[in-house]
Amino acid sequence: MREFAYEAQPMRVVLRPGASVTATPGEAERLGLRRLLVVSGARGADTARAVADALGGACVGLHAEARMHVPVEVADRAVEVARAAGADGCVAVGGGSAIGLGKVIALRTGMPVIAVPSTYSGSEMTPVWGLTEHGAKRTGRDPSVLPRSVVYDPELTLSLPVGLSVTSGINAVAHAAEALYAPDASPLVSLMAEEGARAMTGALTGVAADPRDLDARGRALYGAWLCGAALGATTMGLHHKLCHVLGGTFGLPHAETHTVVLPYALAYNASAAPEAMAALGRALDSDDAPGALWELSGRLGAPRSLAELGLREADLTVAAHAATGQAYANPRPISEEGVLGVLRSAYAGDRP
Ligand code: NAD
Repeated sequence: MREFAYEAQPMRVVLRPGASVTATPGEAERLGLRRLLVVSGARGADTARAVADALGGACVGLHAEARMHVPVEVADRAVEVARAAGADGCVAVGGGSAIGLGKVIALRTGMPVIAVPSTYSGSEMTPVWGLTEHGAKRTGRDPSVLPRSVVYDPELTLSLPVGLSVTSGINAVAHAAEALYAPDASPLVSLMAEEGARAMTGALTGVAADPRDLDARGRALYGAWLCGAALGATTMGLHHKLCHVLGGTFGLPHAETHTVVLPYALAYNASAAPEAMAALGRALDSDDAPGALWELSGRLGAPRSLAELGLREADLTVAAHAATGQAYANPRPISEEGVLGVLRSAYAGDRP
């Protein structure tokens, strides 16, 4: 018998084409919010404007200053703007960066967040916030930052370039993979993770073949939902830890780094997590999940090596040291030497 604890997250999810403008006002109304600040990144400002317009009188401003990894000065400014506008809630429109800013506004002010995701990062489904100060990223868990309502609009993702769609999608698959072998995995979450990985990997092939395929875009967001929810319900392991170090200390791009590292982190853990590998294998229709992911990302044109992402070979030992500094959950024991092996393989990019 497998023992477990499971806690449902108190949020609503809406998925349908056009929902960013047709559903967001109704979601605000359900939550009793009448003075919403819409936040986005600079490049997502047009989309965010459309959401703000749809909210009409329930929108008190648009703040298009979100940046990757939520620098503390960006967060300070957004909180100031939200308070000055007398906002009672926040609508975060965009990828993980915009949603990350919404979460920090929630953390500081207690305002509820509605998320309207435009990538497959899955951040909207987790109570994890991040904040970057003096070049170091801090993260934490707080139920108050979990969006109260998530509006998935496949039309919003039609503009996401194929390259970013693929890497962002594999970022989501990484959430599912680590949820499957997490110490706090539970049966329902494992089903979500497996189905999320299946939906996402299938959808990515469709998106790469035709980025305007609304059905494939919808399936990818469905996958992002499930993978993100699995991440939100469990404790992350070696893969997320490594990517955190590579992004935080060496400035490597988030989704691309996840895409490159995942097959090697999974190959390292495979022998210690046979059930998780079997579930992931079912999702990928392969008996070699790490190899299948490596093949998929290469076939869809994603980067395959840390060298391609600009890491220097000399950084590998520094990264291995940083990723083993603190103890954390992982199915296979972690040693600096073992992690260095994972990093060396990911640096070279050969078949795991
Ligand atoms: P991002 O939000 O930084 O977006 C990447 C780029 O894509 C940006 O330039 C953005 O303008 C553009 N973009 C976004 N949506 C687009 C669209 N539909 N069309 C065209 N361009 C679009 O990247 P991301 O990968 O979504 O998020 C990364 C951030 O999210 C990182 O800071 C990461 O740490 C965080 N994250 C957090 C969690 C969590 O649970 N807390 C989970 C995943 C990611």
